[in-house]
Amino acid sequence: MNSNNTFSKETLAVHAGTIPDPTYQGTVSPIFPSSAYDYEDVPETFYPRYFNTPNQKSIIEKLAVLESAEDGLIFSSGMAAITTALFAFLRTGDHCIVPFDIYGGTQHAIVHEFARFQIGYTMVDMRNPAEVAAAIRPETKVIYLETPSNPTLAICDIQTIATIARDNHIHTIIDNTFASPVNQNPILLGIDVVTHSGTKYIGGHSDLSCGAVLGSKKVISQIFNSAIHFGGNLDAQACWLIERSLKTIFLRVRQQNANALAIARFLEKNTLVKKTYYPGLESHVGYDIARKQMPGGFGGMVAFEPALPAASFIENLNLIKRAISLGGVESTITSPIKTSHAKMDAETCARIGVTADLVRLSVGIEAEGDLIKDIQQALVAASK
Ligand SMILES: *Cc1c(COP(=O)(O)O)cnc(C)c1O
Repeated sequence: MNSNNTFSKETLAVHAGTIPDPTYQGTVSPIFPSSAYDYEDVPETFYPRYFNTPNQKSIIEKLAVLESAEDGLIFSSGMAAITTALFAFLRTGDHCIVPFDIYGGTQHAIVHEFARFQIGYTMVDMRNPAEVAAAIRPETKVIYLETPSNPTLAICDIQTIATIARDNHIHTIIDNTFASPVNQNPILLGIDVVTHSGTKYIGGHSDLSCGAVLGSKKVISQIFNSAIHFGGNLDAQACWLIERSLKTIFLRVRQQNANALAIARFLEKNTLVKKTYYPGLESHVGYDIARKQMPGGFGGMVAFEPALPAASFIENLNLIKRAISLGGVESTITSPIKTSHAKMDAETCARIGVTADLVRLSVGIEAEGDLIKDIQQALVAASK
């Protein structure tokens, strides 16, 4: 299906990129697992690591529609997408500006890999655009963003930072994993490159690993030139599963948005809870910016600090499972200080609100009442 038509994104999430099946007239895309294709008298030679096999292109067409991008590349993990995008724009002597509260894996990659290539970086509080502007040097080539942040869901102003970057001829890359393409489309706000850990909301069922980069044809061809060297391509079967997952992304994420908002409101009023972080609460410092730049909803992630030992609270949950990762149809919970932020220094943890008792809830699509009941009974049990 041609993506530049008048259908809405909900319709195109189902139909865009579907590969026709002229042999059997089936409804869904066939899977093309071949890694060997003819090279004579063909318009294009297909190969998995050229990121151009039918099932790879099929999901990119869908994802590009969802993110309002012209083109994209699909990877085998979020980190493959992120590191390939960063290294496509950065070389020895360059400098990059990143938020201090980014995803732990990305922070680790920057600290350990950039040093080996003498690429400089400044970690800033991206909620303050003046701090971003002040960190710009002549050799700054990339401003990297992540909003809402992990785990305390801090919000930075995408459009303001994109404008600062454009005025200074600096590329912008944003990790849009937490928001998902349903809630936030950074390209419409002036961002050059969107990355996703598709392992989360894009896959949506906690059963596959993938990553994506999306942007204009120009930036994607630049990233492609590095991607074919680094590899990181995804196989046809996983691509096909993602295509299937994306058909329900609006249904899933909207249910997760609604559940998360209800849970956040419940937690905020609960005397057994000290602190609740959710960008859809009027009390959240980033609420006004979130409302403006997340027209689809505030997402399915909620962080909070029970007024009792978190380990005991988690232990007492029945329905909500303890698990790393996020974005699945099932609700899961983690203790960031033991998982994603285990390697972060105490000072930074304190600065972003990662305490021993902070928990991060990834809200699924279950009935809102069942989730609230489970949280309530676990809070009561842990307080005894
Ligand atoms: C999980 C995650 C990543 C890394 O993705 P992988 O698929 O695990 O490589 C990057 N950014 C964010 C925000 C994530 O949650």
